[in-house]
Amino acid sequence: MTDQLDAPSLRQVAMVFDLNKCMGCQTCSVACKVLWTRDEDTEHEWWCTVNTQPGLGAPKDWEEMGGGWEGGKPKPGHQPTRAEFGGGWKFNYEEVFYGGKGREVHLKPSGPGMWTSGGDGSPGSSASSYDGKAPDQDVTQWGPNWDEDQGAGEWPNAYYFYLPRICNHCTKPSCVSACPQGAMYKRPQDGIVLRDEDRCRGYRFCMEACPYKKIYFNYARQVSQHCIFCFPRLEQGVAPACARQCPGRLVFVGYLDDTEGPIHRLVNEWKVAVPLHAEYGTEPNVFYVPPLSPYSLNEDFSIDYETPRIPPEYLEGLFGPGVHDALATLKSEMEKVREGGKSEMLETLIAYKWQSLFGPFTTDPATLTPTG
Ligand code: SF4
Ligand code: SF4
Repeated sequence: MTDQLDAPSLRQVAMVFDLNKCMGCQTCSVACKVLWTRDEDTEHEWWCTVNTQPGLGAPKDWEEMGGGWEGGKPKPGHQPTRAEFGGGWKFNYEEVFYGGKGREVHLKPSGPGMWTSGGDGSPGSSASSYDGKAPDQDVTQWGPNWDEDQGAGEWPNAYYFYLPRICNHCTKPSCVSACPQGAMYKRPQDGIVLRDEDRCRGYRFCMEACPYKKIYFNYARQVSQHCIFCFPRLEQGVAPACARQCPGRLVFVGYLDDTEGPIHRLVNEWKVAVPLHAEYGTEPNVFYVPPLSPYSLNEDFSIDYETPRIPPEYLEGLFGPGVHDALATLKSEMEKVREGGKSEMLETLIAYKWQSLFGPFTTDPATLTPTG
Protein backbone atom coordinates (compact mmCIF):
# COMPACT_ATOMS: atom_id res chain seq x y z
CA MET A 1 0.00 0.00 0.00
CA THR A 2 1.26 3.47 -0.78
CA ASP A 3 0.58 6.80 0.91
CA GLN A 4 -0.32 8.43 -2.42
CA LEU A 5 -3.84 9.18 -1.30
CA ASP A 6 -2.66 11.27 1.64
CA ALA A 7 -1.54 14.03 -0.71
CA PRO A 8 -4.60 15.42 -2.51
CA SER A 9 -4.23 16.90 -5.99
CA LEU A 10 -4.00 20.65 -6.30
CA ARG A 11 -6.46 20.57 -9.19
CA GLN A 12 -8.54 17.92 -10.89
CA VAL A 13 -9.28 17.56 -14.57
CA ALA A 14 -12.56 15.87 -15.33
CA MET A 15 -14.80 14.83 -18.18
CA VAL A 16 -18.54 14.93 -18.76
CA PHE A 17 -20.23 12.72 -21.36
CA ASP A 18 -23.73 13.80 -22.40
CA LEU A 19 -25.36 10.41 -23.02
CA ASN A 20 -28.28 12.02 -24.83
CA LYS A 21 -25.98 12.81 -27.73
CA CYS A 22 -23.88 9.65 -27.92
CA MET A 23 -24.66 7.59 -31.03
CA GLY A 24 -22.27 4.73 -30.35
CA CYS A 25 -20.13 5.46 -33.40
CA GLN A 26 -16.91 4.43 -31.62
CA THR A 27 -14.94 7.34 -33.08
CA CYS A 28 -13.66 8.03 -29.58
CA SER A 29 -12.59 4.41 -29.10
CA VAL A 30 -10.73 4.39 -32.40
CA ALA A 31 -9.18 7.83 -31.84
CA CYS A 32 -7.69 6.49 -28.61
CA LYS A 33 -6.70 3.17 -30.15
CA VAL A 34 -4.73 4.64 -33.03
CA LEU A 35 -3.00 7.09 -30.74
CA TRP A 36 -1.99 4.89 -27.81
CA THR A 37 -2.47 1.15 -28.25
CA ARG A 38 -1.09 -0.01 -31.56
CA ASP A 39 2.00 -1.80 -30.22
CA GLU A 40 2.54 -5.52 -29.99
CA ASP A 41 0.10 -7.24 -27.65
CA THR A 42 -2.22 -4.31 -27.22
CA GLU A 43 -4.97 -5.67 -29.47
CA HIS A 44 -7.22 -6.26 -26.46
CA GLU A 45 -6.48 -2.83 -24.96
CA TRP A 46 -9.26 -0.37 -25.66
CA TRP A 47 -8.68 2.38 -23.11
CA CYS A 48 -11.88 4.06 -24.29
CA THR A 49 -14.86 1.76 -24.78
CA VAL A 50 -18.47 2.52 -25.65
CA ASN A 51 -20.95 -0.18 -24.73
CA THR A 52 -24.67 -0.62 -25.11
CA GLN A 53 -26.61 -0.41 -21.87
CA PRO A 54 -28.13 -2.50 -20.45
CA GLY A 55 -25.39 -4.94 -21.36
CA LEU A 56 -22.46 -6.90 -20.01
CA GLY A 57 -19.88 -4.34 -21.10
CA ALA A 58 -16.15 -4.79 -21.46
CA PRO A 59 -14.54 -6.67 -19.86
CA LYS A 60 -17.51 -9.00 -19.89
CA ASP A 61 -19.67 -8.50 -16.79
CA TRP A 62 -17.24 -5.98 -15.29
CA GLU A 63 -19.78 -4.63 -12.81
CA GLU A 64 -19.66 -7.95 -10.97
CA MET A 65 -15.88 -8.05 -10.62
CA GLY A 66 -15.38 -6.15 -7.36
CA GLY A 67 -12.60 -3.78 -6.40
CA GLY A 68 -12.83 -0.24 -5.06
CA TRP A 69 -13.58 0.57 -1.45
CA GLU A 70 -16.12 -0.77 1.02
CA GLY A 71 -16.45 0.63 4.53
CA GLY A 72 -13.15 2.45 4.07
CA LYS A 73 -11.29 -0.75 3.26
CA PRO A 74 -10.22 -2.15 -0.12
CA LYS A 75 -12.84 -4.48 -1.53
CA PRO A 76 -11.37 -7.65 -3.09
CA GLY A 77 -11.64 -7.71 -6.85
CA HIS A 78 -11.25 -10.04 -9.79
CA GLN A 79 -8.39 -9.59 -12.23
CA PRO A 80 -10.02 -9.51 -15.68
CA THR A 81 -8.51 -11.95 -18.15
CA ARG A 82 -7.61 -11.17 -21.70
CA ALA A 83 -10.47 -13.46 -22.72
CA GLU A 84 -12.92 -11.33 -20.72
CA PHE A 85 -11.71 -8.24 -22.57
CA GLY A 86 -12.31 -10.14 -25.81
CA GLY A 87 -8.73 -11.01 -26.61
CA GLY A 88 -8.32 -8.83 -29.66
CA TRP A 89 -8.74 -9.93 -33.25
CA LYS A 90 -7.61 -9.32 -36.76
CA PHE A 91 -10.04 -8.47 -39.52
CA ASN A 92 -9.70 -10.85 -42.45
CA TYR A 93 -10.20 -8.32 -45.23
CA GLU A 94 -9.24 -10.81 -47.93
CA GLU A 95 -12.06 -13.16 -46.97
CA VAL A 96 -14.62 -10.48 -46.20
CA PHE A 97 -14.16 -8.53 -49.42
CA TYR A 98 -13.03 -11.18 -51.88
CA GLY A 99 -13.55 -14.65 -50.39
CA GLY A 100 -17.33 -14.65 -50.60
CA LYS A 101 -17.95 -16.99 -47.67
CA GLY A 102 -20.68 -14.85 -46.14
CA ARG A 103 -21.68 -15.97 -42.68
CA GLU A 104 -18.84 -18.45 -42.47
CA VAL A 105 -16.42 -15.57 -41.99
CA HIS A 106 -15.58 -14.95 -38.34
CA LEU A 107 -13.28 -12.67 -36.45
CA LYS A 108 -10.13 -14.59 -35.70
CA PRO A 109 -8.13 -14.16 -32.52
CA SER A 110 -5.18 -11.94 -33.33
CA GLY A 111 -2.41 -14.18 -32.07
CA PRO A 112 -1.37 -17.09 -29.93
CA GLY A 113 -3.08 -17.29 -26.61
CA MET A 114 -5.81 -14.87 -27.55
CA TRP A 115 -8.69 -17.26 -27.92
CA THR A 116 -11.61 -16.89 -25.64
CA SER A 117 -12.36 -20.32 -24.24
CA GLY A 118 -10.72 -19.83 -20.86
CA GLY A 119 -7.57 -18.84 -19.04
CA ASP A 120 -5.95 -15.46 -19.43
CA GLY A 121 -4.15 -16.36 -22.61
CA SER A 122 -0.75 -15.91 -21.06
CA PRO A 123 2.03 -18.49 -21.25
CA GLY A 124 1.33 -21.14 -18.66
CA SER A 125 -2.32 -20.24 -18.38
CA SER A 126 -4.25 -23.17 -17.00
CA ALA A 127 -6.74 -23.29 -19.84
CA SER A 128 -4.25 -23.42 -22.66
CA SER A 129 -0.85 -24.70 -23.61
CA TYR A 130 -0.08 -21.42 -25.38
CA ASP A 131 1.04 -23.24 -28.51
CA GLY A 132 -0.73 -20.94 -30.91
CA LYS A 133 -3.70 -23.25 -31.38
CA ALA A 134 -7.06 -22.65 -29.78
CA PRO A 135 -8.15 -25.61 -27.67
CA ASP A 136 -11.68 -26.09 -28.94
CA GLN A 137 -12.56 -23.09 -31.03
CA ASP A 138 -10.75 -20.19 -32.53
CA VAL A 139 -13.55 -17.72 -33.04
CA THR A 140 -13.51 -14.51 -31.03
CA GLN A 141 -16.50 -14.50 -28.68
CA TRP A 142 -16.35 -11.20 -26.87
CA GLY A 143 -15.08 -7.69 -27.32
CA PRO A 144 -15.99 -4.05 -26.77
CA ASN A 145 -19.72 -3.50 -27.40
CA TRP A 146 -20.16 -7.16 -28.30
CA ASP A 147 -23.84 -7.00 -27.29
CA GLU A 148 -24.38 -3.89 -29.40
CA ASP A 149 -27.94 -2.57 -29.49
CA GLN A 150 -29.44 -5.59 -27.72
CA GLY A 151 -30.46 -3.53 -24.71
CA ALA A 152 -33.48 -4.67 -22.72
CA GLY A 153 -37.27 -4.53 -22.60
CA GLU A 154 -39.88 -6.14 -24.82
CA TRP A 155 -41.17 -4.77 -28.12
CA PRO A 156 -42.55 -2.15 -28.48
CA ASN A 157 -40.88 -0.95 -25.30
CA ALA A 158 -37.32 -2.07 -25.90
CA TYR A 159 -34.64 0.44 -24.98
CA TYR A 160 -30.90 0.99 -24.95
CA PHE A 161 -28.33 3.75 -24.81
CA TYR A 162 -24.57 4.01 -25.09
CA LEU A 163 -22.08 4.42 -22.27
CA PRO A 164 -18.55 5.61 -23.13
CA ARG A 165 -16.00 4.70 -20.47
CA ILE A 166 -12.38 5.61 -19.81
CA CYS A 167 -10.32 5.49 -16.61
CA ASN A 168 -12.05 7.84 -14.19
CA HIS A 169 -8.82 9.35 -12.80
CA CYS A 170 -10.42 8.90 -9.43
CA THR A 171 -9.83 11.12 -6.42
CA LYS A 172 -9.42 8.01 -4.25
CA PRO A 173 -7.93 5.57 -6.78
CA SER A 174 -7.87 2.06 -5.35
CA CYS A 175 -5.47 1.09 -8.16
CA VAL A 176 -2.84 3.50 -6.79
CA SER A 177 -3.33 2.26 -3.28
CA ALA A 178 -3.00 -1.39 -4.33
CA CYS A 179 0.34 -1.04 -6.13
CA PRO A 180 3.16 -2.25 -3.86
CA GLN A 181 5.77 -0.83 -6.23
CA GLY A 182 4.50 2.74 -6.09
CA ALA A 183 4.35 2.54 -9.87
CA MET A 184 0.91 4.10 -10.00
CA TYR A 185 0.43 7.64 -8.83
CA LYS A 186 -1.92 10.57 -9.02
CA ARG A 187 -0.06 13.63 -10.15
CA PRO A 188 -0.81 16.75 -8.14
CA GLN A 189 -1.05 19.40 -10.85
CA ASP A 190 -4.17 17.97 -12.50
CA GLY A 191 -5.12 14.76 -10.67
CA ILE A 192 -4.41 12.49 -13.65
CA VAL A 193 -3.65 8.90 -12.55
CA LEU A 194 -0.50 7.65 -14.24
CA ARG A 195 1.96 4.80 -13.94
CA ASP A 196 5.71 4.58 -14.18
CA GLU A 197 6.16 1.56 -16.45
CA ASP A 198 9.80 1.22 -15.38
CA ARG A 199 8.62 0.55 -11.84
CA CYS A 200 5.72 -1.73 -12.78
CA ARG A 201 6.56 -5.38 -12.09
CA GLY A 202 3.38 -6.77 -13.62
CA TYR A 203 1.80 -7.91 -10.34
CA ARG A 204 -1.60 -6.71 -11.61
CA PHE A 205 -2.93 -5.80 -8.17
CA CYS A 206 -4.12 -2.58 -9.78
CA MET A 207 -6.31 -4.60 -12.17
CA GLU A 208 -7.92 -6.34 -9.23
CA ALA A 209 -8.37 -3.12 -7.29
CA CYS A 210 -9.91 -0.97 -10.04
CA PRO A 211 -13.68 -1.42 -9.74
CA TYR A 212 -14.23 -0.04 -13.25
CA LYS A 213 -11.89 -2.66 -14.73
CA LYS A 214 -10.12 -0.06 -16.81
CA ILE A 215 -6.60 -1.47 -16.49
CA TYR A 216 -5.17 -3.82 -19.11
CA PHE A 217 -2.13 -6.06 -19.10
CA ASN A 218 0.48 -5.99 -21.82
CA TYR A 219 1.68 -9.60 -21.81
CA ALA A 220 4.57 -8.89 -24.18
CA ARG A 221 6.04 -6.15 -21.99
CA GLN A 222 4.71 -7.53 -18.69
CA VAL A 223 3.32 -4.18 -17.55
CA SER A 224 -0.17 -2.94 -16.81
CA GLN A 225 -1.48 -0.08 -18.93
CA HIS A 226 -4.44 2.30 -18.81
CA CYS A 227 -5.85 5.59 -20.11
CA ILE A 228 -3.51 8.50 -19.41
CA PHE A 229 -6.09 11.23 -20.13
CA CYS A 230 -3.87 12.15 -23.09
CA PHE A 231 -1.64 14.09 -20.68
CA PRO A 232 0.96 15.01 -23.34
CA ARG A 233 -1.81 16.69 -25.31
CA LEU A 234 -3.29 18.31 -22.23
CA GLU A 235 0.08 19.84 -21.36
CA GLN A 236 -0.03 21.65 -24.69
CA GLY A 237 -3.59 22.84 -24.27
CA VAL A 238 -5.12 20.12 -26.48
CA ALA A 239 -8.15 18.12 -25.33
CA PRO A 240 -7.86 14.30 -25.16
CA ALA A 241 -8.29 12.50 -28.48
CA CYS A 242 -11.57 10.80 -27.53
CA ALA A 243 -13.13 14.17 -26.72
CA ARG A 244 -11.63 16.11 -29.63
CA GLN A 245 -12.68 13.55 -32.24
CA CYS A 246 -16.26 12.95 -31.01
CA PRO A 247 -18.56 13.99 -33.87
CA GLY A 248 -21.46 14.29 -31.43
CA ARG A 249 -19.79 17.15 -29.53
CA LEU A 250 -20.78 15.58 -26.25
CA VAL A 251 -17.51 15.20 -24.36
CA PHE A 252 -16.66 18.09 -22.07
CA VAL A 253 -13.18 18.51 -20.59
CA GLY A 254 -11.93 20.91 -17.95
CA TYR A 255 -11.01 21.54 -14.35
CA LEU A 256 -13.60 20.82 -11.70
CA ASP A 257 -12.75 24.04 -9.85
CA ASP A 258 -13.04 26.28 -12.93
CA THR A 259 -16.29 27.97 -11.97
CA GLU A 260 -16.69 29.48 -15.45
CA GLY A 261 -16.05 26.18 -17.25
CA PRO A 262 -18.70 23.69 -18.41
CA ILE A 263 -17.52 20.86 -16.15
CA HIS A 264 -18.01 22.77 -12.92
CA ARG A 265 -21.34 24.14 -14.04
CA LEU A 266 -22.74 20.78 -15.22
CA VAL A 267 -21.47 18.80 -12.22
CA ASN A 268 -21.58 21.20 -9.28
CA GLU A 269 -23.88 24.06 -10.22
CA TRP A 270 -26.67 22.49 -12.28
CA LYS A 271 -26.01 18.95 -11.01
CA VAL A 272 -27.09 17.37 -14.28
CA ALA A 273 -23.89 15.33 -14.64
CA VAL A 274 -23.50 12.46 -12.19
CA PRO A 275 -20.81 9.84 -11.56
CA LEU A 276 -21.02 6.19 -12.56
CA HIS A 277 -21.23 3.76 -9.65
CA ALA A 278 -20.21 6.26 -6.98
CA GLU A 279 -20.82 3.45 -4.47
CA TYR A 280 -17.50 1.92 -5.57
CA GLY A 281 -15.96 4.58 -3.36
CA THR A 282 -13.14 5.81 -5.60
CA GLU A 283 -14.70 9.23 -6.31
CA PRO A 284 -14.56 9.08 -10.11
CA ASN A 285 -13.91 12.24 -12.12
CA VAL A 286 -15.82 11.22 -15.23
CA PHE A 287 -19.46 12.27 -15.09
CA TYR A 288 -22.52 11.56 -17.22
CA VAL A 289 -25.57 13.53 -18.23
CA PRO A 290 -28.08 10.66 -17.97
CA PRO A 291 -30.23 9.60 -20.91
CA LEU A 292 -33.75 10.96 -21.19
CA SER A 293 -36.22 8.24 -21.98
CA PRO A 294 -39.07 7.99 -24.47
CA TYR A 295 -42.42 7.14 -22.92
CA SER A 296 -43.69 3.57 -22.96
CA LEU A 297 -46.41 2.44 -25.34
CA ASN A 298 -49.57 0.70 -24.21
CA GLU A 299 -50.85 -2.44 -25.93
CA ASP A 300 -52.96 -0.33 -28.28
CA PHE A 301 -49.86 1.80 -29.00
CA SER A 302 -51.22 4.81 -27.18
CA ILE A 303 -48.57 6.62 -25.16
CA ASP A 304 -48.24 5.93 -21.44
CA TYR A 305 -47.05 9.31 -20.19
CA GLU A 306 -46.49 7.95 -16.69
CA THR A 307 -43.91 5.31 -17.57
CA PRO A 308 -40.51 6.06 -19.07
CA ARG A 309 -39.19 3.26 -21.22
CA ILE A 310 -35.82 3.24 -19.46
CA PRO A 311 -36.68 2.15 -15.89
CA PRO A 312 -35.61 4.89 -13.44
CA GLU A 313 -34.40 2.19 -11.03
CA TYR A 314 -32.02 0.92 -13.71
CA LEU A 315 -30.53 4.40 -14.11
CA GLU A 316 -30.30 4.75 -10.33
CA GLY A 317 -28.36 1.48 -10.25
CA LEU A 318 -25.78 3.04 -12.57
CA PHE A 319 -25.70 6.67 -11.51
CA GLY A 320 -27.10 6.73 -7.96
CA PRO A 321 -30.12 8.59 -6.57
CA GLY A 322 -28.91 11.94 -7.96
CA VAL A 323 -29.95 10.75 -11.41
CA HIS A 324 -33.61 11.54 -10.70
CA ASP A 325 -32.96 15.21 -9.93
CA ALA A 326 -30.64 15.42 -12.92
CA LEU A 327 -33.36 14.13 -15.24
CA ALA A 328 -35.97 16.38 -13.65
CA THR A 329 -33.72 19.41 -14.20
CA LEU A 330 -33.14 18.47 -17.83
CA LYS A 331 -36.87 18.10 -18.43
CA SER A 332 -37.79 21.37 -16.75
CA GLU A 333 -35.15 23.26 -18.76
CA MET A 334 -36.49 21.73 -21.96
CA GLU A 335 -39.98 22.77 -20.97
CA LYS A 336 -38.74 26.29 -20.33
CA VAL A 337 -37.30 26.49 -23.83
CA ARG A 338 -40.47 25.04 -25.37
CA GLU A 339 -42.39 27.87 -23.74
CA GLY A 340 -40.11 30.42 -25.36
CA GLY A 341 -37.60 30.82 -22.57
CA LYS A 342 -33.84 30.55 -22.64
CA SER A 343 -31.71 27.92 -20.96
CA GLU A 344 -28.02 28.50 -20.43
CA MET A 345 -27.73 24.88 -19.34
CA LEU A 346 -29.21 23.49 -22.54
CA GLU A 347 -27.10 25.84 -24.64
CA THR A 348 -24.05 24.53 -22.82
CA LEU A 349 -25.08 20.95 -23.59
CA ILE A 350 -25.85 21.75 -27.22
CA ALA A 351 -22.33 23.23 -27.62
CA TYR A 352 -22.90 25.42 -30.69
CA LYS A 353 -19.14 26.02 -30.84
CA TRP A 354 -16.79 23.12 -30.21
CA GLN A 355 -14.45 25.36 -28.25
CA SER A 356 -17.09 25.64 -25.55
CA LEU A 357 -16.57 21.95 -24.72
CA PHE A 358 -12.97 22.08 -23.65
CA GLY A 359 -12.35 24.88 -21.14
CA PRO A 360 -8.64 25.74 -21.40
CA PHE A 361 -7.86 22.85 -23.79
CA THR A 362 -8.90 24.32 -27.12
CA THR A 363 -5.55 24.37 -28.94
CA ASP A 364 -5.82 22.76 -32.38
CA PRO A 365 -3.52 19.69 -32.41
CA ALA A 366 -2.74 20.43 -36.07
CA THR A 367 -0.82 23.51 -34.92
CA LEU A 368 1.58 21.50 -32.77
CA THR A 369 5.04 20.47 -33.94
CA PRO A 370 5.50 16.67 -33.76
CA THR A 371 8.25 15.66 -31.37
CA GLY A 372 8.68 12.10 -32.68
S1 SF4 B 1 -10.93 4.13 -12.85
FE1 SF4 B 1 -9.75 2.44 -12.00
S2 SF4 B 1 -7.71 2.68 -12.96
FE2 SF4 B 1 -8.77 4.63 -13.18
S3 SF4 B 1 -8.14 5.84 -11.36
FE3 SF4 B 1 -10.11 4.84 -10.86
S4 SF4 B 1 -9.51 2.98 -9.79
FE4 SF4 B 1 -7.68 3.69 -10.92
S1 SF4 C 1 -18.78 9.55 -27.30
FE1 SF4 C 1 -18.85 10.54 -29.35
S2 SF4 C 1 -17.25 9.48 -30.55
FE2 SF4 C 1 -17.73 8.18 -28.74
S3 SF4 C 1 -19.30 6.76 -29.49
FE3 SF4 C 1 -20.37 8.51 -28.55
S4 SF4 C 1 -20.79 9.89 -30.29
FE4 SF4 C 1 -19.23 8.43 -31.00
